[in-house]
Amino acid sequence: MRRHSILGLGALLLGLLVAPAGAAEVGPGTWSAQATGWAWERDGIRFELQRGDKAYTVAEADLVRDALERLPNVLLRRARDLGVTRLRRDAVPRKLIGKSANASATTVIERKWISFGDVLFRGLNRDRVYRTVAHEFGHVAQYSLLSSNRFLAKARGTYFGTPGWTSISWTLALTKGLRSWNGFVSDYARTNDREDFAESVEFYWIAPDELQKVSPTKFRFMRDRVFNQISSPATSRVPGALAIAPVKPEITSLGEQAEGPFGVVTVRGKHFMGPRDGGYNRVTFRSKKGMDLAASRTKLWAWVPSLSPGSAPVAVTTQDGKSNERTIRVKKPWWKFW
Ligand SMILES: [Zn+2]
Repeated sequence: MRRHSILGLGALLLGLLVAPAGAAEVGPGTWSAQATGWAWERDGIRFELQRGDKAYTVAEADLVRDALERLPNVLLRRARDLGVTRLRRDAVPRKLIGKSANASATTVIERKWISFGDVLFRGLNRDRVYRTVAHEFGHVAQYSLLSSNRFLAKARGTYFGTPGWTSISWTLALTKGLRSWNGFVSDYARTNDREDFAESVEFYWIAPDELQKVSPTKFRFMRDRVFNQISSPATSRVPGALAIAPVKPEITSLGEQAEGPFGVVTVRGKHFMGPRDGGYNRVTFRSKKGMDLAASRTKLWAWVPSLSPGSAPVAVTTQDGKSNERTIRVKKPWWKFW
């Protein structure tokens, strides 16, 4: 009997250890009609879905409620603690000043709201609304990690970004310099360190394996610093949500067909490292390195090294890998008349 109860206790403890963490963090809340919309509340965390320049339809409000139910307290509480508790419905999402045409949503910490626009609700796609709501709460979460001195925190955040986060993929938040083209869950995440953060929050919750795959460092940051070790239950995941595939540099064309040693060749393509980026570019001619200068992320200038005349394959290598090759003809230099 005694042995049995010890086994029972062991099973209970084991059960606690293997229980899907976060199971108690999500789920339905209370839902009530208000004068200008609805209010949703769970575990003392309350959000108001309010009319902005237009009102939510019942179907739209239901999708936002569904999204809130799939998000964990640990994330929603960050918004609550900052007072960002109004979820507005606007035709076009509002920014601090003006509107954000084409955007599906905006988060304005200063005004303490998130604004959802017509674009978001087009087609009333459940997972799309959910993912966008998660993304916007991601912006709030990044803000929640800044220090309590809001003015200094904002100034610092604008320039350097978020300690421990921004340096994973960026040189400085201000210049938006990439350290690599890889390590991002989406192309949009490559916009700047804020979109990178919001997209990573979204993926940590909806498709954690995808974030883990593209960047174990970002996965750990999200797990330890944003989600307090909680992982998402199956009902909060979006099967089929995929991170983008890795990329490497690619040459699409060379500006010159033939050039002599020390002549300049314009190399066009993509996934090069631009002037403000970290990482590096290395342009090789017949495997010999030439000097190069980045004009942009799609254009490099490369100086032909000292090579004997004949065809020479040109390739660009960055920290992300080696490109395809394009061939140039190395001319006999004009000054080699002998
Ligand atoms: Zn965003």
